[in-house]
Amino acid sequence: MSVTRSKLDSINEFARQGYLVRVTCANCHHVAELNPVLLMQQLHMGRKSMEVERLERQMRCRLCQHRGARISAASPDF
Ligand SMILES: [Zn+2]
Repeated sequence: MSVTRSKLDSINEFARQGYLVRVTCANCHHVAELNPVLLMQQLHMGRKSMEVERLERQMRCRLCQHRGARISAASPDF
């Protein structure tokens, strides 16, 4: 898990610190990088938690439909 992870316990921290949300499927390791601001809006509209730990359990992979992922920070410069 990334070093910065301890501070990034909520999606709005990713947005505040300018990181992308990297979601890695726990099953097939498919990686998706999400804009935290858009993700926050989606979560807000769905009245869902922005807590990273909870999201890791709720995220569903687009490829294999597996529920469960790893969330880490990605620099938008890559
Ligand atoms: Zn997957």
